[in-house]
Amino acid sequence: MKPGHEIVPTQGAPRAECDVAIIGGGVMGLGIAYQLAKRGIKKVVVLERGYLAQGASGRNGGGVRMQWSTEQNVRLMQESIELCAGFAQEIGVNIWFRQGGYLFLAKHEKERALMERNVELQNRCGVPTRMMAPEEAGALVPELDISKIVCACYNPKDGVLFPWPFLWGYAHQALKRGVEVHLFTNVSAIERDGSGFVLTTTKGRVRAERVINAAGAWSPEVARLVGVELPNHPHRHEILSTEPLKPFLKPMVSVLSSGLYFSQSMRGEIVTGITVDDDAKGVQLGSRLKFLTTLAKEMVSLVPRFADLKILRQWAGPYDVSPDGHPILGEPPGVPGFFLACGFVGHGFMMAPIISKLYAEWLAGGAKHEVFERCRLSRFAEGKMEKESMILG
Ligand SMILES: Cc1cc2nc3c(=O)[nH]c(=O)nc-3n(C[C@H](O)[C@H](O)[C@H](O)COP(=O)(O)OP(=O)(O)OC[C@H]3O[C@@H](n4cnc5c(N)ncnc54)[C@H](O)[C@@H]3O)c2cc1C
Repeated sequence: MKPGHEIVPTQGAPRAECDVAIIGGGVMGLGIAYQLAKRGIKKVVVLERGYLAQGASGRNGGGVRMQWSTEQNVRLMQESIELCAGFAQEIGVNIWFRQGGYLFLAKHEKERALMERNVELQNRCGVPTRMMAPEEAGALVPELDISKIVCACYNPKDGVLFPWPFLWGYAHQALKRGVEVHLFTNVSAIERDGSGFVLTTTKGRVRAERVINAAGAWSPEVARLVGVELPNHPHRHEILSTEPLKPFLKPMVSVLSSGLYFSQSMRGEIVTGITVDDDAKGVQLGSRLKFLTTLAKEMVSLVPRFADLKILRQWAGPYDVSPDGHPILGEPPGVPGFFLACGFVGHGFMMAPIISKLYAEWLAGGAKHEVFERCRLSRFAEGKMEKESMILG
């Protein structure tokens, strides 16, 4: 942030009446708040029970990609990456966005068909992904042991950004436009009040004409406050960063079968995570040895040079997992005025720029984008799901 651009959250009690109350001050809640204010809806209140970036938004790897297995996600992410590229200009904050591409690796012959199908879909949507032989992937990342892979695919337009300034930028611009951002403000009850709702918070009561549930992995708890059951659930996802190395790694590298991914930050650290099962219930933020050993084994077998690398930090965050890997959006049946913005699994950060823009356009009286119909809650009960298979972690 530039001097004079510090974020000073709103002090005191929230306003008694507002147009839109947003529960959750992660990237989704803050993005929607900013986009609403930009469209002239200024009586917006963000209610965050912790500090800024306390949830998944302050804990993620910052990867943004157009390589998906469903047309919906490919197209949304094309637009979202455009918005990421213009973020510094629009918001006035450097998010260290580096488009070094995403290199997906297949270790087993049976993964080739999925990769080829995805590349064909992405090409049809105008994304320049291409299949690569192991030798070509090795030319891009010479440290890889290419004897471990059968093929790869690469889109040079994917990239990595630094998540925190993204949130600071949205928060700063929302506050500047009159949005109230209340930190350490828990929402514990929601009652229907005519066409709107009254929310009970630790800082007092707020009446809102419309409410947005942007509480990430905690969204099922928040939905229950209005009697709605959601099918998404939290899953612990762990990640770490290492000592800095001289810059050498251009793309984000990811292994399809294990969910291993790694990129190099602008400070030279290797930032990496992997899929590890978790039987624990609820949001779990503890770090486990099981994660370290699973990751080290996969990582060193693929990049032997990483064997001596020292780990500096390890942490966990909550994925907000929906049954088909797509978000849950719009108003649940029977609760008009209560909007869902959850179920983003491990890709909500990259989706936030486009989803928050489309949400604000709709709520400000503009067109309702078809994603809201496609991602409605009732699709699960109706059995109308198109599963996304390119989920990492
Ligand atoms: C380790 C890790 C790596 C990831 N890597 C990537 C990646 O590379 N790319 C990507 O796009 N995505 C990634 N993700 C996923 C991404 O971080 C999330 O999808 C995204 O941040 C979700 O944002 P959100 O605003 O919906 O939720 P959150 O950021 O979790 O925000 C929800 C907020 O709601 C608040 N809240 C909950 N209940 C209440 C209540 N009752 N009252 C008030 N406030 C409440 C919480 O305190 C929290 O701050 C990763 C996630 C993790 C954990």
